[in-house]
Amino acid sequence: MGSRGISIVGMDVNELVTILNKALSDEWLAHYQYWVGSKVVAGPMKDAVIAELVQHAAEEMGHAELLSTRIIQLGGTPVLTPEQWFKSTTCGYDAPEDPFVQAVLQQNIKGEQCAIGVYDQLMKLTKDADPVTYNMALQILEQEVEHEQDLQDLLDDLKIMLSRCHMSE
Ligand code: FE
Ligand code: FE
Ligand code: MG
Repeated sequence: MGSRGISIVGMDVNELVTILNKALSDEWLAHYQYWVGSKVVAGPMKDAVIAELVQHAAEEMGHAELLSTRIIQLGGTPVLTPEQWFKSTTCGYDAPEDPFVQAVLQQNIKGEQCAIGVYDQLMKLTKDADPVTYNMALQILEQEVEHEQDLQDLLDDLKIMLSRCHMSE
């Protein structure tokens, strides 16, 4: 660990590592929720939805990468077991038990809205205390906002399509 890099952090480093590990747990659960969702999802616009879910699964892994790198820089240890993900998570895990496109999109929108709250909080916490973590949280937050938008756009298109189908009946 870099002692000078840690010494500029103006807050309790152990507390910060705990918060970063909570976010890391969220990211792994989000990754799997997207990944397995892309495998089981069914219904209209399936191909477009799968493409977005697969992309988001990869991007959540990228967030896990950023968080674990920062945790190690701070002298911490990234969560070592999947069991810990469930103990540490803020946003939880929604199994895609209903594979219909609309249900899967709604579950993942809920997850993104939770993630946006997590990184907004992290930015507020680190604003004056840790510019490196703040900058990382901003990078992730920008992508979570994009994720929510991408899913909402798909859901809106799906609703238009379904309402047209009902009209033509
Ligand atoms: Fe993420
Ligand atoms: Fe996301
Ligand atoms: Mg996207």
